[in-house]
Amino acid sequence: MYLKHMRPYQLKQAVERDDPLLVPAGCIETHGPHMAIGHDTIIVEEICARIAEEINVVIAPSFDYGPTGYALGGPADGTIDPDYAAFGAHVKAILKNFLEMGFKKIYVIIMHQGMEAPLALAFKKAASELAFELILEQGYPRGWWGDKALMEKVGPIWGHIDVQPMILPDASPPAGGDHAGYNETSFLLATRPELVEPARLEGDVPWYCRQHEEKNSWTANAAHGQVMVDAVVNAWIKKISPS
Ligand SMILES: [Zn+2]
Repeated sequence: MYLKHMRPYQLKQAVERDDPLLVPAGCIETHGPHMAIGHDTIIVEEICARIAEEINVVIAPSFDYGPTGYALGGPADGTIDPDYAAFGAHVKAILKNFLEMGFKKIYVIIMHQGMEAPLALAFKKAASELAFELILEQGYPRGWWGDKALMEKVGPIWGHIDVQPMILPDASPPAGGDHAGYNETSFLLATRPELVEPARLEGDVPWYCRQHEEKNSWTANAAHGQVMVDAVVNAWIKKISPS
């Protein structure tokens, strides 16, 4: 179920059921001449939609404008790079609201630049700061950590917001990453084929399209994409509802 579509009573029911909140986070970044520049967010949204077909989850509106560092081009190429401090403040404010809605388990899902990059770190930093700040906001006194009774009342500190790569270890292999190459092009061919134009792969094509002799943007295919999608979705379902 999409958070944007919910009526307040449905939100209340989801919170009471302890439904996890899935938060797609990505960026606008050039992905070669053949692929949609929103790929890294779109593929997470497609995975979330498939998870939601199997188990009860709520899907938050995506964070579309994450940091890119202009590593693969500038705005004219289709890449946006926000002010990092502003992005981090925005992320923290919205994550706080998700917690205040009552969600106890929030998964931020990322398919862009890895877990030590500015995008993932913005979410991790916000999560760890909120873990402390919200306890003080609830009126607990400074020094609560040392008080056994208060600690029990506070409950688990960490883990309410879990920032993870879209491809969990259980899904790799068969799933893998790259940039607009064999894997990402296949992911999009399997989920949103109308957003891929293989015929555009001619002339001055960027280096990342041909990183491998046999497995590259040209040989990408929906069958490989589907195998990866299935593995990624299954790994997430196993993580979220292990029973
Ligand atoms: Zn990508």
